Amino acid sequence: MSEIHLQIDGKKVEAKEGMTVLEAARSADIFIPTLCHHEKLEPFGACRICTVEVEVRGRTKLVVSCVYPVEENLVVRTRSEKIDRIRKTLLELMLAHAPDSEQLQDLAGEYGADKDRFEKEASFCIHCGLCVRYCAEVKKKNAVGFVDRGIRKEISFIPEIASKECNSCKECFSLCPTSYLQAAFVLTEALAFPRASSQTALKK
Ligand code: SF4
Repeated sequence: MSEIHLQIDGKKVEAKEGMTVLEAARSADIFIPTLCHHEKLEPFGACRICTVEVEVRGRTKLVVSCVYPVEENLVVRTRSEKIDRIRKTLLELMLAHAPDSEQLQDLAGEYGADKDRFEKEASFCIHCGLCVRYCAEVKKKNAVGFVDRGIRKEISFIPEIASKECNSCKECFSLCPTSYLQAAFVLTEALAFPRASSQTALKK
């Protein structure tokens, strides 16, 4: 794999061919915020909070750093007025869904996002897909998936699989940026497989 030389926030960075801009930045201890990224998972590019500016052959464009590959002589900026404005709006949109998320609130403080800018649609899910992808890619269980599309899209546990797998696993719960996942599981457990959950409770 050949070495790629690029510049991130004025710092010279050496990366390996095939790395993304996010990976190159992290390898050089340069922080770019993420919400849907996880080292064990394929890049997803869903939350777009990792958007950065790149300069290619004199032209500047905005790219999603977790899926954008490094290139020789690429110039990257991880903060600018434009980037901060985009992150602020993205956070405001996500906060309409999950106003109590600590992770979102921390980022909102950094980017001056107003949690009340958009009308609340407290679905609690920001569609990062971490739980869905972790269960599919790492656990190979597919116990949780997306249902519906567009603004109606949400995650849903598959009772037939979740009733057998989740209680002894729970690995994806802590990945959820809004802490909604555990509540969604408890609700599914109570509604869809109460017998299994009461037996689990009796065994404790
Ligand atoms: S807790 Fe359930 S949904 Fe989450 S990773 Fe484990 S098996 Fe998959």
